[in-house]
Amino acid sequence: AHFRFFSWVTHVTPLGIFTFIFFILRVFMDTMRKEEQLSELTNDLENKIMDVTQRSEIDPLTKCFNRSKFDAAIQQEVRIAEGHNARFALLMLDIDLFKRVNDTYGHAAGDNVLVHFADVVRARLDARHTFIRYGGEEFVVLCRSYDAVEAFHLAERIRQSVELSALLPGQRVTCSIGVSQWHNGEDDLESFYQRADQAMYVAKQNGRNRVMTEADIRD
Ligand code: GH3
Ligand code: MG
Ligand code: MG
Repeated sequence: AHFRFFSWVTHVTPLGIFTFIFFILRVFMDTMRKEEQLSELTNDLENKIMDVTQRSEIDPLTKCFNRSKFDAAIQQEVRIAEGHNARFALLMLDIDLFKRVNDTYGHAAGDNVLVHFADVVRARLDARHTFIRYGGEEFVVLCRSYDAVEAFHLAERIRQSVELSALLPGQRVTCSIGVSQWHNGEDDLESFYQRADQAMYVAKQNGRNRVMTEADIRD
């Protein structure tokens, strides 16, 4: 109808407008599609980075944080404690006579004990705690807002849970725990860690399967 009733100049107009709109729409849709693809790629990349970061910090056997997390985590907790004049404590856990488990039942059974030990400890923890496999059969729990007495009670609950959990049929598996408390303004990381380690050593010397605090190493 348009071609019939209008002069040739106007023939171009509807076709031109149609083509122009079609062109704009195509450009718009192409841009949208590319943006969608780009955001999918970005999400994918972010997920992969998170995955790699997490895997580099997690012990694959026990699913605890690994040793590489220890320095950063303890420094962060100390900053929080110092900044808010808050309390902070550390538990050092070591499975008793673990070498005997390996020697008697084999390395795979030993690994199994480590996995279940970590599960039993984890069941006693919440968001205030950072659970780290420090190495071998040694673990650390950072306890935000805990003083030595509260940390002792937590450690005692963990010790009892481990003892009662029958981690290995036929042989009792226990752990010894050392506790130290951060002293705001006058403490340093090395000594803080050493006090928990020494308290754990005193627990071993006193017959294992017990909790000792930094107060016990001064006696
Ligand atoms: P203590 O009560 O004095 O701590 O005695 P212990 O036998 O636990 O201590 P020791 O340091 O003599 O032995 C630790 C053992 O832990 C030796 C090592 O073979 C074992 N171990 C360390 N890492 C692993 C692991 O990933 N898997 C297994 N199955 N064993 C491990
Ligand atoms: Mg041990
Ligand atoms: Mg050890």
